Amino acid sequence: MNHRNGLIIVLSGFSGAGKGTIMKNLLKNYPDMYHLSISATTRDMRPGEQDGREYFFKTREEFDAMIANGEFLEYATFNGNSYGTPKAYVEQLANEGKDVILEIEVQGALQVKEIFPEALLLFVTPPSAQTLKERLVGRGTESEDVICQRLAISAKESHLMEKYDYLIVNDVLENSVREVHEIIQCEHFRTARNKSAIQEMQKELTIFSKGE
Ligand code: 5GP
Repeated sequence: MNHRNGLIIVLSGFSGAGKGTIMKNLLKNYPDMYHLSISATTRDMRPGEQDGREYFFKTREEFDAMIANGEFLEYATFNGNSYGTPKAYVEQLANEGKDVILEIEVQGALQVKEIFPEALLLFVTPPSAQTLKERLVGRGTESEDVICQRLAISAKESHLMEKYDYLIVNDVLENSVREVHEIIQCEHFRTARNKSAIQEMQKELTIFSKGE
């Protein structure tokens, strides 16, 4: 009995909650166990980013063409820019039984849940709103206006937290990375995720019980 279905895992969280760092460490600590979906976006490339690594950077026209061609699993607007998950890669990995992680915002996450009700939704939050504010201020890269804007987005997003399956309180980074890994691994053991193994056992036992 060795069926293992791949999971579609969605990781969301407030800007400044540390989900990007959790992801990086997850891929580093557990190499080859997880695959990261790379999104397309219309936002400008930031220093240090590389096309095809953090994102596929697209013009508005290119992004709209991808929408028209049905290339996205989901897409959404965040802070004035468009972001979308290319469908082909995620579907391919899921079909191959691999765990694929989508680091996306809440509207997109809920679209994924609609399409794949079995997707695992994880939400990352800092220990308190105060910590979130301090982290954003501490980065020193954004003006007060931008920080307020990000906190306003977080306030809105916080009303959707309950739609997620699990909450990760990111206080100590290594703990959060381990928790995300453990949650994903435990999910694989759910009976609902092992239907074919159960059916196979039932079928074989029925045959054996007839003395065959
Ligand atoms: P950033 O511009 O800071 O890289 O990302 C802004 C937000 O967009 C983050 O919350 C990030 O998780 C989200 N995001 C990144 N890619 C996607 C995507 O493909 N779809 C959706 N819906 N959100 C995304």
